[in-house]
Amino acid sequence: MKTHYDAIVVGSGLTGSLAARELTQAGLEVLLLERGSPRLCPSLPASSFPSIDLDDFHIQRNCYLFEGPNLAHYFVNDREHPYLSDPDAPFWWIRGYQLGGRSATWAGQSYRWSDLDFNANLVDGAGCDWPIRYTDLAPWYSKVERLIGLTGRKEGVPQIPDGEFGKARSLNAVEEHLRKTLQGKFTRLLTPSRIAEGRSNGKRSCQFCGETHSDGVVYYSSINGALPEAMATGRLAVKTGSIVHSVLLDHRSGRASGVRVIDATSKAEAEYQARIVFLCASTIPTNQILLNSTSRQFPTGIGNSSGVLGRYLVDHHWKSGANARIRLPSDISNQESEVPWGSYVPRFRNLGVEPSRDYLRGFGYQVSSGMIDNEGDWLVNFHGFGETLPSQSNFIELDRTQSDSYGMPLVRIHFEYGANEYAMRGDMQASAVEMLEAAGAEEVIPIQEPAIPGHSIHEMGGARMGRDKRDSFLNGWNQSHEVANLFVTDGACMASSACQNPSITYMALTARACHHAVDLLKKGEL
Ligand SMILES: Cc1cc2nc3c(=O)[nH]c(=O)nc-3n(C[C@H](O)[C@H](O)[C@H](O)COP(=O)(O)OP(=O)(O)OC[C@H]3O[C@@H](n4cnc5c(N)ncnc54)[C@H](O)[C@@H]3O)c2cc1C
Repeated sequence: MKTHYDAIVVGSGLTGSLAARELTQAGLEVLLLERGSPRLCPSLPASSFPSIDLDDFHIQRNCYLFEGPNLAHYFVNDREHPYLSDPDAPFWWIRGYQLGGRSATWAGQSYRWSDLDFNANLVDGAGCDWPIRYTDLAPWYSKVERLIGLTGRKEGVPQIPDGEFGKARSLNAVEEHLRKTLQGKFTRLLTPSRIAEGRSNGKRSCQFCGETHSDGVVYYSSINGALPEAMATGRLAVKTGSIVHSVLLDHRSGRASGVRVIDATSKAEAEYQARIVFLCASTIPTNQILLNSTSRQFPTGIGNSSGVLGRYLVDHHWKSGANARIRLPSDISNQESEVPWGSYVPRFRNLGVEPSRDYLRGFGYQVSSGMIDNEGDWLVNFHGFGETLPSQSNFIELDRTQSDSYGMPLVRIHFEYGANEYAMRGDMQASAVEMLEAAGAEEVIPIQEPAIPGHSIHEMGGARMGRDKRDSFLNGWNQSHEVANLFVTDGACMASSACQNPSITYMALTARACHHAVDLLKKGEL
């Protein structure tokens, strides 16, 4: 098999498949390395899937989507893929090792970040200043939105800038009622969720297998989106069952020369070379690969002279909000939301509009609702997603005394929420109750479940972008400060978490970094 390429991309999820698409469409010969393999479509009869032992999935089964054998194989077997965290401070790492990564299982919620988010670290000093601002990313959001078939309603609110939207579904009756209440009584917004529905071209193809199905909710995925487009260029080689162990350093040039790979079946090692390397294995595996890439020059991980690698892990805290029953006049008939998580209340705290709170940053709500009888009763759930402040004490390290069955040192995750997150959670709950009561709800039930880090599946950071190579790992182009042809564009690159679902931002950063890398190659600078 060929071993030299223009570019190596690690991981085939939302970011890796996009990198493969952008780089191949720009004319590069790309090798995509993916540790997992293609999976059967869960729409097949249950008899197509082996039965599972739930104890093998003691972390994964906490994910709301984990239900039964049809979907279990889209999640890792926790016994086969161990990692370490403090039993008193657990971190639930929800993941899937398969062609397409977690694009197969994500829910497509996608909101642009704004300068409220990109300025935040500079303004309040928690975290290093982002080296980019919204205008740097805006055109790349547009490009990604066209690819993923984003639907939404243009609202003109600065904290979630409008994008290139296809037509959003209508709000249902209770959502219309809540929208009016929030606008009238609070000057807040409730808008249809912005969802990556995939490009239709007259038909919708399955998120899992890419085939056309007549029913079910489908979102954009690598399998129905970027991967086939990259394959169509004829310049993509995909090697599944390939676990990237480390990035190789060429000592003379100080550049990455390629990667070392372990075969998932035979456990044989191999090396592949390329002019540029893109790490898109998702936040924690990318940190693992970087920390595992040691050399005389970089004894604690490639490009890690600053010692910042692995630090400032962030995520979203959730499981705080409220449930309620709302009775509308029974002559109002309207169907239930067509998709789970039907609408969204964007951040309204610490915007400068309402008085600021006793905590920094803010949260948004995903709102789901459904009519429960013919008397006009609806159930509504406000589910908060809150920003987590960057903290040096939340980090990933490798335990070099323990390794997995492939010889990779185990990841140890240290993560605890701090006073800011707990103060915000109180407000997340109280504000949901307040808004539902203002909407005339009966039986408002506050929700405050224990928040387990990782559970929201929005883990980010560890190889953060920044202006200063002394306190960040990547520059403003997602390029290692120290190893110029090494790019990290998955969630590991994030310098803060904002409160919006993050994947579209990883994707916009990926597209932008790919085009920059191609420009540098053309100019002979890489
Ligand atoms: C149920 C669910 C719902 C979600 N809903 C949303 C949502 O609505 N909105 C949102 O923004 N986000 C959502 N997410 C999160 C979203 O899926 C992730 O943020 C996104 O998939 C990250 O993209 P990625 O390319 O970085 O990583 P992934 O999609 O996880 O892909 C990484 C790939 O790298 C591979 N890999 C890992 N290690 C190695 C290695 N050493 N060598 C080779 N390959 C490797 C993996 O097998 C995987 O295929 C959801 C996630 C889940 C599970």
